[in-house]
Amino acid sequence: MTQEVGVYIHVPFCRKRCPYCAFVLIESDGSLHDRFVDKICREIRAAKPKARTLYFGGGTPSMLGAAPIRRMIEAEDSSHPLSDQEIADALAADGVALARRTVAKYRDELQILPARLRHR
Ligand code: SF4
Repeated sequence: MTQEVGVYIHVPFCRKRCPYCAFVLIESDGSLHDRFVDKICREIRAAKPKARTLYFGGGTPSMLGAAPIRRMIEAEDSSHPLSDQEIADALAADGVALARRTVAKYRDELQILPARLRHR
């Protein structure tokens, strides 16, 4: 039986490093973003994690825009897609309060289908 895991994706890009920042990152003009996302997708496909949670940190993950983040989510094991409620429950367990409807709204903004339509 494969154990469920929490997946952390570090997006190491910021436009400019803040003077007090000690995070691992590079100042980015966007030229490396596509290559970075391609490599992350390859790693996810190779590892096939049974992910209970998917967390993006940085850096500034929003610099990648919604489309690359969607690509990363779609690179996960699609035999166990999480419902909006499961995502909300997992976030709540980590101390992040998001209603199921808010999770659905973000998923819709990312143009990601509901779990029942993502299952393969
Ligand atoms: S990670 Fe945050 S604190 Fe660090 S450079 Fe980027 S915006 Fe500034």
